[in-house]
This record gives sequence, structure tokens and C-alpha cells, in this order.
Amino acid sequence: MKERIKYCNLCNIDFSTMYRVQYKNPKEWVFVCEQCLLQLKKKYSDYKYGGTWKK
Ligand SMILES: [Zn+2]
Repeated sequence: MKERIKYCNLCNIDFSTMYRVQYKNPKEWVFVCEQCLLQLKKKYSDYKYGGTWKK
């Protein structure tokens, strides 16, 4: 089985579980890891959560 790899938009490390979020303008979906998601939550109050992505 072939696995697609996604890298965290902020720290550029690949994780098996990623979170799809929208936090900047223009609106754009990006994948981030759990650590970065927690950072985003603090910095951007209007971030949008778009689901969890697993390998
Ligand atoms: Zn990250």
C-alpha cells in the first residue's frame, strides 16, 4: 500500500496525523501537526478547523 506524505505547513515535519486548518488571508487550507495546531489556536482566534487527516 502506498502512503502519501504530508508535511506540516509550519514546521515541515511529516506526521502520521495532520490537521486541516485555515488561518490566513487569503483563505487557504493547510495541513499542520498537533503541536502547530495548538500554536495556531493561541495566535489566531478565527482559525477554521477542517478535519483530521490520517495516513
Ligand atoms: Zn508542525
